[in-house]
Amino acid sequence: MPYRTIIEPFRIHTVQAIDLPTIEEREAALERAGFNLFGLHADEVIIDLLTDSGTGAMSSEQWAGMMRGDESYAGSRSFFRFEKAVKDLTGFTEVIPTHQGRAAEKILFSVMVSEGDVVPNNTHFDTTRANVEYQGAEAIDLVTASEPSEVLPFKGNMDIAALRASIDQAGVDRVPLVMMTITNNSGGGQPVSMENLRAVRAVCDEYGIPLFLDACRFAENAWFIKIREEGYADRTPKEIAREMFSLADGCTVSAKKDGLVNIGGFLAMNDHETSLQARNLLILTEGFPTYGGLAGYDLEALAQGLEEVLDENYLRYRIRSTEYLADKVSAAGVPIVQPAGGHAIYIDAKAMLPHIPPHEYPAQTLAIELYRNGGVRGVEIGTVMFGRPGVDGAPDEPAAMELVRLAIPRRTYTQSHIDYVAEVVIDVAAGASEMGGYRIVEQAPWLRHFTATFEAIARSK
Ligand SMILES: *Cc1c(COP(=O)(O)O)cnc(C)c1O
Repeated sequence: MPYRTIIEPFRIHTVQAIDLPTIEEREAALERAGFNLFGLHADEVIIDLLTDSGTGAMSSEQWAGMMRGDESYAGSRSFFRFEKAVKDLTGFTEVIPTHQGRAAEKILFSVMVSEGDVVPNNTHFDTTRANVEYQGAEAIDLVTASEPSEVLPFKGNMDIAALRASIDQAGVDRVPLVMMTITNNSGGGQPVSMENLRAVRAVCDEYGIPLFLDACRFAENAWFIKIREEGYADRTPKEIAREMFSLADGCTVSAKKDGLVNIGGFLAMNDHETSLQARNLLILTEGFPTYGGLAGYDLEALAQGLEEVLDENYLRYRIRSTEYLADKVSAAGVPIVQPAGGHAIYIDAKAMLPHIPPHEYPAQTLAIELYRNGGVRGVEIGTVMFGRPGVDGAPDEPAAMELVRLAIPRRTYTQSHIDYVAEVVIDVAAGASEMGGYRIVEQAPWLRHFTATFEAIARSK
């Protein structure tokens, strides 16, 4: 095509109204929610970039699949279509549906991980870390060090020397598996190269440790490999995805991301013995192995989604739409993790709010201001999510980064919605020096970011 504009490769088939709450209504909503954006109601939000998880629009073919799908308990047609789609994509022989990603994690770690074990990952996602720690094991993050502003093609890569060192330190018997998160969600939605996956595989082979992918965004990762890694320009996203999966022994997937569905997930692997234990646990906690906590028709929509997500026109638009937002805000001087991630941009609140220390939650502060000023809901990925509560009144142990993630739902918002978001971000950033931090009023012992409540320490705005 001679034209440079990359268009949304779909037309809008069904619409849902967006409410436009006033600033007074937004202030009241913040008070009610204890300044935790997870506590807002969807109709209090103008543009909802809290997550790209389960928030995308399904296609007409997926809805048609919902109608075609069935709801048998055991052995539904939809299960077999789903199983075939997952096997065709991943090559794994054992396919276990779950209601979402964390259910797959809970089952995998219950079966494979014991107290005192160590699980290396490039960067654990929050539920993944919590599920490892719930087993009494240690979750360690080994992403290659880089500055947030540094533009590198594969900032999700694992540090291979650090992987080796941590296996040696723990002792190989205490490392039941290595995980690689593609793309690296908590590390900025950054991709992992095929070369790095191969290197991790080689270390796992050397020590005899299984490798699992946390493959929620396998298609976005495949696209980045296609456009950034030498030797992949002429390969299809599906061929690249298959090669990625071929380097692993199994995967956990939240299908609410690149599965293009609103609910669903799966666990897949090659080891039959482990899969039997996993299925037994599935029956106890999720449901029979041919539905895993989902309806048959959900599996039908998921099978269709796994196909659609690998379409080149879709992936080109998807990755460009995120980059478009990143280009706009960074051109105005807003510090973000560079380059743009696949599903989100990550604003660097540490750089934007140097006067707010980590234990006063600069990223939470920024997320609150984006909502207060523009009704845009993002999420804190910083010390609230990943820091450790201070003991006996000491300040929290800070997270490595203080980020606000603006995640873009798939096939949901148009370019003018994104233009509006850029305008809000740039306007809020201009008032950064006037913002003051927050303290936590109440918190849960794990995954505190979902339910903690906050109060302002000293806000002059
Ligand atoms: C979303 C996500 C999960 C958890 O999946 P849920 O469906 O939310 O339970 C795990 N890992 C990564 C990388 C994710 O993005």
